[in-house]
Amino acid sequence: MVKIEKNDVLLVVDVQNDFVPGGALAVKEGDLVVPVINALQEEFKQVIATQDFHPSDHGSFAANHPGKNPGEFIELAGLTQILWPVHCVQGTSGADFHSDLNQGQWLGIFQKGKNKEVDSYSGFFDNARRGDTGLGDYLKSLSVERVFVCGLALDYCVKFTAMDAMELGFDTFVIADATRAVNLSPEDGAKALKEMEQKGIKILTSKDI
Ligand SMILES: [Zn+2]
Repeated sequence: MVKIEKNDVLLVVDVQNDFVPGGALAVKEGDLVVPVINALQEEFKQVIATQDFHPSDHGSFAANHPGKNPGEFIELAGLTQILWPVHCVQGTSGADFHSDLNQGQWLGIFQKGKNKEVDSYSGFFDNARRGDTGLGDYLKSLSVERVFVCGLALDYCVKFTAMDAMELGFDTFVIADATRAVNLSPEDGAKALKEMEQKGIKILTSKDI
């Protein structure tokens, strides 16, 4: 069991309409994290959300590269970039948070993916690590030491957010039953968990809290 202290923070990653069944980039069972996260939020004094928030001409969208399909690769910002369906476009309902997700106690929302030139899986930095959302400094200003990460999707934005939290010196936890994987390959979620554990991130379930 982990006792939640008042300066711990719960980071709710990208629980948005486009990432749940019916959305443009649906994560299987992505909606099932919502009740788990709502219950978890009651245990925390500090909850912060991230929001994938792309311009419609974003470079990660296959539709912006004639002849390319989702799942194919291009080079973007000097990095190998997998192409996604158009998702979480600013001002569309797909970018909105799931309507059942409780937002009442959120201290803030950190948006990412706004620069069309680079994708941004982590809530802290873009994939090229040039742009900084300010989340790290904000957590430090709150004297946060432990960061608990949940949301969508495990093998992309949750993993990258947790890895960056760890790298920034936060004691980092991922709540496994409060996240789901995209699983473009069937083992991606399991691999992400292993990779995070190897980095020193602790994997919990909501029952441990
Ligand atoms: Zn995105």
